[in-house]
Amino acid sequence: METQIVTIEKADAPAYIDEKLERAGACIRQGGLVAFPTETVYGLGGDALNPESSRKIYAAKGRPSDNPLIVHIADLGHLDSIVSEIPEHARKLADAFWPGPLTMIFRKSELVPRQTTGGLDTVAVRMPSHPLANRFIEKAGGYVAAPSANLSGKPSPTTAKYVIQDMMGRIDMIIDADGVEIGLESTIVDVTGDVPMILRPGYITQEMLSKVVGETDMDVTIFDSSSTQAPKAPGMKYRHYAPKGELVIVEGEPADVVRYINEQTSLHEQKGEKTGVIGTQELIEKYHADSIKNAGNKDDSASVARQLYTFLREFDDEGIEYMYTQSFADAFADKGIGQAIMNRLLKAAGHRVIKV
Ligand code: AMP
Ligand code: MG
Repeated sequence: METQIVTIEKADAPAYIDEKLERAGACIRQGGLVAFPTETVYGLGGDALNPESSRKIYAAKGRPSDNPLIVHIADLGHLDSIVSEIPEHARKLADAFWPGPLTMIFRKSELVPRQTTGGLDTVAVRMPSHPLANRFIEKAGGYVAAPSANLSGKPSPTTAKYVIQDMMGRIDMIIDADGVEIGLESTIVDVTGDVPMILRPGYITQEMLSKVVGETDMDVTIFDSSSTQAPKAPGMKYRHYAPKGELVIVEGEPADVVRYINEQTSLHEQKGEKTGVIGTQELIEKYHADSIKNAGNKDDSASVARQLYTFLREFDDEGIEYMYTQSFADAFADKGIGQAIMNRLLKAAGHRVIKV
């Protein structure tokens, strides 16, 4: 299949942008697949109400078909027709956080095919805040099923470059535009029970959610690798977000972390193995490795979130076999997007954490 790349620049004339989005929307309405930027990561979109489109999405990603897709809408008025009820707490959360990086799980209506929901009776819905994403969704008919636009098992793409790397020849169109600002996937909250439950942490934190609806729960499997329960979001069970090489998270006092990582990288170097390090600005000059990534200031969790997947992808491109990262647990795991960063890092590292 030939994949068209459609580039949209901020300076492009509105009518020109509109014409491009119209073509992308028409492609979805005709059963095609289009990758598009959102404020979290790039999505791989298809018509959420067309079972054949959902089947194509799973095929393009190589994604197991029991892992449901998120349905993206651009208009709150469109929610009613795809869910069978809207609980009061969900209305409050939608008022507070939509459009934005929050996905809610509802009981689905008859309109949504089971191919889109991985066979479940529930449907995940999000209204993105990226302006191009919204206009594209409207032009596509209002309901765009979209998982992240990566091959299954790889880190989600935060730039068009990595969408192209994974999806060229597999989908109809890629919209290349700026505006992926968060860099980690949306917070997922199940609103079907009495108390909203977080299934995947993200930019919208538990604290922010609780301010709006009071009590909230968190799926126990998110941080407990030893839990024998299955995660409530099917996608969370896969080794995901992962680079090809082996990633280890190193926790401890800064001087000890640097010493340990440098000992390890020199051992690897002696064996001719390629090494990589992710570190914060304060310590970055102290590391020795083949590839060193500067995650920014240690207090700036947004900067780490924005760059994390790019670092993991770059390590792959550079053929790095052994990677070490400072832990961000002490710096900001309790704050803002810190919890989401540690959740993705732990998955990428297969829960390999060394305390020094
Ligand atoms: P992605 O769009 O690639 O970030 O993946 C979507 C995530 O949403 C996966 O982890 C899914 O398992 C989760 N998800 C989607 N629909 C549902 C649902 N109905 N119930 C629980 N989790 C869901
Ligand atoms: Mg994904």
